[in-house]
Amino acid sequence: MTPGIRPLIAGNWKMHGTLREAGALAEAVRAGAAGLPADLLVCPPFLHVPSLAALLAGGPVAVGAQDCHAATKGAHTGDVSAPMLRDAGATHVILGHSERRADHAETDAVVRAKVQAALAAGLIPVACVGETEAQRLGGEAEAVVRRQLAESLPDDFAGIVAYEPVWAIGTGRTPTEADIAAIHATIRETLVARFGPAGQGMRILYGGSMKPGNAKAILALPNVDGGLVGGASLVSADFLAIAAAAG
Ligand code: PEP
Repeated sequence: MTPGIRPLIAGNWKMHGTLREAGALAEAVRAGAAGLPADLLVCPPFLHVPSLAALLAGGPVAVGAQDCHAATKGAHTGDVSAPMLRDAGATHVILGHSERRADHAETDAVVRAKVQAALAAGLIPVACVGETEAQRLGGEAEAVVRRQLAESLPDDFAGIVAYEPVWAIGTGRTPTEADIAAIHATIRETLVARFGPAGQGMRILYGGSMKPGNAKAILALPNVDGGLVGGASLVSADFLAIAAAAG
């Protein structure tokens, strides 16, 4: 945690759920959201964003997307622009997730352009960084994260950073608490060096196999201002338990 920053627990639903299932999950999250010590965000597949934004409107659970195109419009078959997401009721968008970087060859430059598009559309970007297992074993984790931050964030960045070690996503493995704290300290230092006092107020989320059983210890670490949760966000009780652990 960082003094003065209210934690955010964000669910990355990835490519899961029919509209009916997504609606039921969203309703269950909303039903348990009152009084939690964290803000809540759910990021369903594109297709469900408008319905869930309407369903959750006016309540404590925000809706985000998992990607956007860097252009506002054009000949980009299958893509969705940031203004379209804003128009559909999204407030946030996850960008540069390692699955996008790996599956869709997204470079830091591409991520940076998408972050700029999100900001221009009035969306809050959740920019993801994190090292692979080989990079961690090679002692390069910190350098990789520094480079990703330098190249993925534009100069006018105003948003959220998520540290997600690639090898911890969906694997049930997490870095040690000391390793998480060390990288989050590096991220904070980098944000402050680049963005001044605004960097001190930016949320830095941890992501990678966060579960009800490990959330309290991780969320208590300095500069961990919430979580980006994949698998456990698909079970409302687990997602809410992680949010409860932010207190
Ligand atoms: C993620 O994909 O953003 C993630 C953190 O997944 P998981 O919680 O399943 O490791």
